[in-house]
Amino acid sequence: MIVVRYDEIGLKGKNRVYFEKRLEENIKNHLKKYGYWSKIERPHGRLIVETDAPHILFSKVFGIRSYSPAVQATLDIDDIYKEIKNILNKFNFETFRITAKRLWKGYDKTSMEINEKIGDLVIKDLGKKVDLENPDINIGIEILNDRSYIFYERYQGPGGIPYGIEGKVLMLISGGIDSPVASYLLMKRGADLTFLHFKSNDEILIKVKRLIDILESYAPKKIDLIVEDHNELMKNIVNKLEKINGIRWTCVFCKYSMLKRAEEIAREIDAMAIGTGESLGQVASQTLNNIAAENLATRLPVLRPLIGLDKIEIENIARNIGTYEESISVKGYVCPFLPTHPITNARIDKFNNIIKKIYGEEGKVL
Ligand code: ATP
Ligand code: MG
Repeated sequence: MIVVRYDEIGLKGKNRVYFEKRLEENIKNHLKKYGYWSKIERPHGRLIVETDAPHILFSKVFGIRSYSPAVQATLDIDDIYKEIKNILNKFNFETFRITAKRLWKGYDKTSMEINEKIGDLVIKDLGKKVDLENPDINIGIEILNDRSYIFYERYQGPGGIPYGIEGKVLMLISGGIDSPVASYLLMKRGADLTFLHFKSNDEILIKVKRLIDILESYAPKKIDLIVEDHNELMKNIVNKLEKINGIRWTCVFCKYSMLKRAEEIAREIDAMAIGTGESLGQVASQTLNNIAAENLATRLPVLRPLIGLDKIEIENIARNIGTYEESISVKGYVCPFLPTHPITNARIDKFNNIIKKIYGEEGKVL
């Protein structure tokens, strides 16, 4: 059995039930994806999962703060001690600590009283010593309204909120370091992603698919990828920009046209927002001016979870979530449309004028 803990702050009433149900469903599907069965109960404040799955899988389910493989007992102190003794008999240890938590406040002993009672039994029965600071083994007890759980391991979950609970986001994924990290952070905050990649070549597309495989390991289901031809998207625009002597605007238009196309697709698939891996001022093209200019492409919210992160911070997350190596595996792609002196500080008024020359009233490239 696995005792699953989640953050309860801000979770009240209906919201809480909704959260718990979604977490339950996600855990079930997550385990099922790998071929494991599970049976889940939701007593107040915890999820209790009976399963044949290795517990490591729980480390990738958003919404889980921490979890412990556990055994169940009744609320009777002797019964609790019997289970604890079973566990302790398997270990070679000298010092111990009991860490009880009374989740059900109706229980007739406080957490402290449980610690003392069980502690005394271990001392007298097994002749071991208490060490609160640095025990060889730390036995946890959680008291629910009709039963208790006993464990000695505690593992971190990824935190966040259950995958998909916020709704659909169309995520622009490039195969670089940033957009997979941005994808992860949006998934962590409950976004249900569909990926959109503008393909420049096969090698990068394969990398994008591998990155999606890694990201999918944090989701309870498969995540769709939509592939569009980047050259096709840019060809017309670049031709047109050449004619009006605006080739320096190519990069701003590249992002603008990606967002514009993304908006069309988002509306088709009922996504509420678009996600990107942009970080303010990270590269010459991600100035606030450029971002503001590109943003004219859509009225949908564009979510940029990396906006305030430094490159080092982004790379650290990439390493932690397992996307870094894959992201840097294919190098040397140079955009064929890159102008010699791209605009790095797009003045919105100027950009607006050029938009009018490139796109007609209907918003299609003229
Ligand atoms: P990344 O590391 O994600 O590639 P970057 O630092 O290289 O980002 P840009 O090339 O300016 O920055 O891209 C900014 C964002 O635009 C990307 O994070 C991604 O969301 C989106 N994007 C860029 N290229 C593509 C592409 N070919 N297909 C889909 N989205 C893209
Ligand atoms: Mg990139």
